[in-house]
This record gives sequence, structure tokens and C-alpha cells, in this order.
Amino acid sequence: MRQRTLCLIKPDAVNRNLVGAVLQAIEAEGLHVCALRMIHFTKAQAEGFYAVHRERPFFDSLATYMCSGPLVACVLEGENAVARYRTLMGATNPADAAEGTLRKRFAQSLEHNSVHGSDSPESAAGEIAYLFSTCDIVSR
Ligand code: ATP
Ligand code: MG
Repeated sequence: MRQRTLCLIKPDAVNRNLVGAVLQAIEAEGLHVCALRMIHFTKAQAEGFYAVHRERPFFDSLATYMCSGPLVACVLEGENAVARYRTLMGATNPADAAEGTLRKRFAQSLEHNSVHGSDSPESAAGEIAYLFSTCDIVSR
């Protein structure tokens, strides 16, 4: 099934000039970029993006990190895009991530793990709507 998913290239990766390397891996996987912008979250915007985690002990630290510098937000489109991009990212903790995945290659720690990807088509729709308006997204 053709799907869209949301990718964030997190502040740790943008800060280390890894935007091109992440996008290259995404395109090599055959996923299509259909929207792309840079964002520097306020704390409230970062908290809103990760609201699903608001009860977790790492929530405040995560929101502080996510507004510590600019990030790249990207809508990806392709067959089974949600699961394919999650596989390309690798496990949340880079220590558990498979060889060749984005997090294995680039992540610095469990929190500074370089990339985000939606975990379902439903959360993708919500996250895309949080960051992009309809006219920002092209069809690929
Ligand atoms: P993401 O939603 O960013 O794609 P994920 O779906 O693999 O990551 P989640 O459980 O949704 O993992 O956690 C969201 C983010 O919160 C993680 O990517 C990581 O940056 C951070 N995080 C998760 N667990 C912890 C933890 N135990 N300590 C610190 N930070 C954490
Ligand atoms: Mg998640």
C-alpha cells in the first residue's frame, strides 16, 4: 500500500552536517521526498510533537533536546513507507540497532538518536499535519 510517513533529522544530526547523508540513504532505499523544511522548535512545539510521551520520565529532557537546534522535517512517500523507513532507521537505542541502519551509523545515544520516523499510518497523518500544510506536500 502506498503510504506517507514523517521523518525528522534531529538536531544532533543537523549539527554534525549529516542531512545529506540521511537523505541519500532514504532515496537509496527508494522512498520519495515529497515535502522538506527546516524547523527550530520552541519548547512548547517540541512538547506538542512528542505529546504521546508526556508521562514518560525522559519527556522533559527529550523536548529540551528537540528544541536545542534546527531540525529537518521531511514527508516521505512510497509503498509501505512507514515500516520501510522504520527499518532503515533501526532500533531506538543505537546499541541495539542493526548494522547499516541510520541509528547504527549516526546516533550518539538513546536520546540523541539522529532520526525520527512515524510508528503507524495514523501517527504519520497526525505528525505531518502538525508540521506541514496541504499545499507544502507534492505527490510522487
Ligand atoms: P522516534 O519517535 O523519535 O522515531 P522511536 O519511535 O524509536 O523514536 P520512542 O519510544 O517513540 O522511540 O521515543 C521517542 C524518542 O525519545 C526516541 O527516539 C529517543 O530520542 C527518546 N527516548 C526514548 N526512550 C528514551 C529513554 N529511555 N531515555 C532517553 N530518551 C529516550
Ligand atoms: Mg516514536
